[in-house]
Amino acid sequence: MAAAVYPIRLGFDCCYIIRERGLILIDAGLPGKAGIFRQAVDRLGIRPGDITLMVITHGHFDHIGSAKAIKDLTGATLAMHQPDAGWLEHSINPRIPGVTPWGRILAKPLNWPLPITHAEPTKVEIVLGDEDRPLDEYGIRGRILFTPGHTMGSVSVLLETGEAFVGDLAMNKIPLRLTPGFPVLAEDMDLVRASWKKVLDAGARVIYPAHGKPFASETIRAALGAA
Ligand SMILES: [Zn+2]
Ligand SMILES: [Zn+2]
Repeated sequence: MAAAVYPIRLGFDCCYIIRERGLILIDAGLPGKAGIFRQAVDRLGIRPGDITLMVITHGHFDHIGSAKAIKDLTGATLAMHQPDAGWLEHSINPRIPGVTPWGRILAKPLNWPLPITHAEPTKVEIVLGDEDRPLDEYGIRGRILFTPGHTMGSVSVLLETGEAFVGDLAMNKIPLRLTPGFPVLAEDMDLVRASWKKVLDAGARVIYPAHGKPFASETIRAALGAA
């Protein structure tokens, strides 16, 4: 049986709970969203303490914002790749660079609040390396892939059934993008494309971005082909 996927809106972000034999959470939303998270899991009939792992796709404030509060609520182990893990552990808010004409325009207002928007720091128990990390021990048939490019420490979660949770390796939400595709904000677009090749070669079929609705992987395959 395929895993159940529950999207939870935490501000501008969509986090995902994945339920199979076990329960994991991907990403932790903007600061101050733990109450909304609690209501959402209550509605789903999920006990917070049954979520055993939080995988944070990368260290931007809209993904780590409520990590500490959600960790306190669930007791979940937190996994992130370096160097992004250090941003959460030390409450660092790096600039987010635009990589398209629109991304460069958007980066200005997006970067304004950074000096005053801080995620509460917390320890990252599992600092991921560049190799794949299986999720079997958390009751999920799938793995974490190292997919740098949007940030240098970005990761994705790929289920055996082809659902890929890619954080900001793709975007599909106004004002970021009108249609699904590559991020308009990134540190290294060559790495974004290399990471996408890795995700597609590993069998991704349905892409779940952190911003916007899921879409078919063919969209990215076509974009890569055109690049
Ligand atoms: Zn981001
Ligand atoms: Zn984001």
